[in-house]
Amino acid sequence: MKVVVIGGGIGGLALAQALRRAGVDVAVHERDEGPGTRWEGYRIHINPAGARALSACLPAARWQEFRDTAGPGGDFGFLTERLRELLVVEESIMYPDGAADPAEDHYAADRATLRRLLAEGLDDVVHYGAEFVGYEVLPDGRVRADFADGRSAVADLLVGADGAASRVRRRLLPGVRTLDAGAVGVAHKIWLTDEIRAALPARLCTGMNAVLTSGPCFLFTSVFEPPQPDARPYLLAALVARPDVLPPDVTELDGDALRVAVDVLVSGWDPRLRRALAAADPRSRTAVAFRATGPLSPWPAGPVTVLGDAIHVMPPIGGLGGNTALRDAHLLGRLLPAVARGERDLLGAVGEYEAEMREYGPAAVRYAMDQKEQTLAGSDGPIAAVTARLFFGLCASVPAVRRWAFGREWSRVAAARAWERAERPALAG
Ligand SMILES: Cc1cc2nc3c(=O)[nH]c(=O)nc-3n(C[C@H](O)[C@H](O)[C@H](O)COP(=O)(O)OP(=O)(O)OC[C@H]3O[C@@H](n4cnc5c(N)ncnc54)[C@H](O)[C@@H]3O)c2cc1C
Repeated sequence: MKVVVIGGGIGGLALAQALRRAGVDVAVHERDEGPGTRWEGYRIHINPAGARALSACLPAARWQEFRDTAGPGGDFGFLTERLRELLVVEESIMYPDGAADPAEDHYAADRATLRRLLAEGLDDVVHYGAEFVGYEVLPDGRVRADFADGRSAVADLLVGADGAASRVRRRLLPGVRTLDAGAVGVAHKIWLTDEIRAALPARLCTGMNAVLTSGPCFLFTSVFEPPQPDARPYLLAALVARPDVLPPDVTELDGDALRVAVDVLVSGWDPRLRRALAAADPRSRTAVAFRATGPLSPWPAGPVTVLGDAIHVMPPIGGLGGNTALRDAHLLGRLLPAVARGERDLLGAVGEYEAEMREYGPAAVRYAMDQKEQTLAGSDGPIAAVTARLFFGLCASVPAVRRWAFGREWSRVAAARAWERAERPALAG
């Protein structure tokens, strides 16, 4: 059996690693000219669904390297824009099995390092500079993928892992739409120098935080604290706002113009935070308009399938997109080797993958959209903001309420599915 994957992002590479490990013939076609040609400056939060997938897809030494190079995920704090601490949710509440099992833990990983680890050992598998343009199902049931330079590749299974604007999905499922999610994020990378650390409250220099406001925006922050002494720690700070409070051309603005737009929005905030945002690495300031995949109806399984953002793009609020792409790769990587060994039929395996993915994928999209609504709740006016703050106060003072409110909700999306539990017998009970 030959598997051709379109797109060498997080999901496509993880699938290739899993198939390679299982001895399945796989090729990845990526339009980038080479590894490392794209700027991947920020950290990515890997939750237990992603960690489970990485531990299963990667060879043991590379999974260990991931753990050696990733920083801790940390607790999650909530603050006001005047930097008053409202609440800290401990990681033991968010990810209760993390202390016992590294594959059940969460991590702050550097994106470029993760992509390098995922590409390692795949030199003969990944074809760079290969822009996919279309596919045809052949009379014998196999698929021919066509590339912009005139080349083509024939496969028993074509996997579209080509991201949010997926051409594979548009051809396979033309009725599936990605919609404007009603929020824009402006990301900043702030180097955690001694000066910045001294200026900011300690809470902002650790773990993850949401700075909530009574307006239609909030700031998400996350520290990347690399274990290696020669790597530089930084703070990812993403200002998320309703699009109408930012310039209409915000995604086209350069770093300096974005700094001005952000400064206007945060004008009433604590000056320490405003100064830190203004001191962000100017090349790192970028604005992204968030999108979300609309509802998915079942479709018949065939020799073409899709994974990751190609089929369930979502706002990054909650940090689930990459983890869900990894979960897809994990699942497909489990199911396809039996097909290659002749133990089951291809369409049965693809159908099983798609049926399961159609449950957890859209659930992750809904979760991200709910998180967006809740964190922009300030836009509903001061009463909603005051109610939210009273709720945080209750959670902060009563651990049982905190566990009830955040444990249930936050661990749900990353909790092990039945097939993931089956792989980790320690969790089965
Ligand atoms: C600011 C921000 C922060 C985020 N933070 C997190 C986080 O903390 N945790 C998390 O889990 N997720 C996070 N995400 C989401 C995450 O980045 C995506 O969900 C994830 O990258 C999806 O992986 P993927 O492999 O499906 O797609 P991608 O990573 O987009 O990879 C798709 C690949 O396909 C290639 N490609 C596209 N078209 C073609 C073509 N025609 N031919 C050949 N190749 C093609 C692209 O070049 C790319 O390499 C964040 C997103 C943003 C924007």
